[in-house]
Amino acid sequence: MHTPPDSPLPELSISPGTTIGAVLNQSPLDAVDARILVCHGLGLTRVQLITQSDRVLGPEEAARLSELFRRRITGEPIAYIIGEREFFGLALHTTPDVLIPRPETELLVELALERLPPQGRMLDLGTGTGAIAIAIAHHRPDAEVTAVDVSAAALEIARRNAARHACAVNLVQSDWYAGLPAGGRHHLIVSNPPYIVANDPHLSQGDLRFEPADALTDHADGLSALRIIVQHAPAYLLAAGWLMMEHGYDQAASVRGLLAAGGFESVQSWRDLAGIERVSGGRYPG
Ligand code: GLN
Repeated sequence: MHTPPDSPLPELSISPGTTIGAVLNQSPLDAVDARILVCHGLGLTRVQLITQSDRVLGPEEAARLSELFRRRITGEPIAYIIGEREFFGLALHTTPDVLIPRPETELLVELALERLPPQGRMLDLGTGTGAIAIAIAHHRPDAEVTAVDVSAAALEIARRNAARHACAVNLVQSDWYAGLPAGGRHHLIVSNPPYIVANDPHLSQGDLRFEPADALTDHADGLSALRIIVQHAPAYLLAAGWLMMEHGYDQAASVRGLLAAGGFESVQSWRDLAGIERVSGGRYPG
């Protein structure tokens, strides 16, 4: 469906009797992707993959690996094929109902951990897999973490991930703040909202084609979710509480502008490992 009919897929049917080593050597896939899929398909660890490289595949195993390779060649993201992605050292269930956790979002977790006081109350808006909320709750079991998402399917994934890591996260179905009880205030609000501009060509390329559009784009100028989050944050923050949001590579100045106009202080942006201003935030004086 994602491959034009005039570009034939590489021949990838794996024959029974092939060794694991030969499957890896002859694979048309990226070498790391091929190793991940073979480990997943055969239930092997990375060490077993090496020590069992002379093992010969049976018919059922060969068919299973052929199907996994076929899915990857049509462009399906590895995280969706194996149903999992690691974030901040935690393996998270990941399905097409939720955005695939990204390494750059770990910056937001680090900044939040630096600012959350003992027994701190924290709100994660648009939690998806639950990645941000669960990473924080895992490192700070004393914290009171609430995570919201408008998608019931996303909340179910987040619930499974929280249970998997024995994290107490209060999950609420809510369109940003709309479903939250009035008067609940937090030391910290964090969010990785949809911020890609409508019709950005990246939305129809690579892994993004397979991710939920509503988790990627606001279907507008890219700032509409960020605007709502900034506008209503003061009603949900304790005095001197922080709001920090992930945003696109070219949105830092705009988001700092929203924060300053909204009465936030200490407004600043932080760079990700690629050197891009990726998170902006400020402190609400109260
Ligand atoms: N960082 C993601 C990307 O550019 C977008 C995630 C988001 O919209 N929150 O692929």
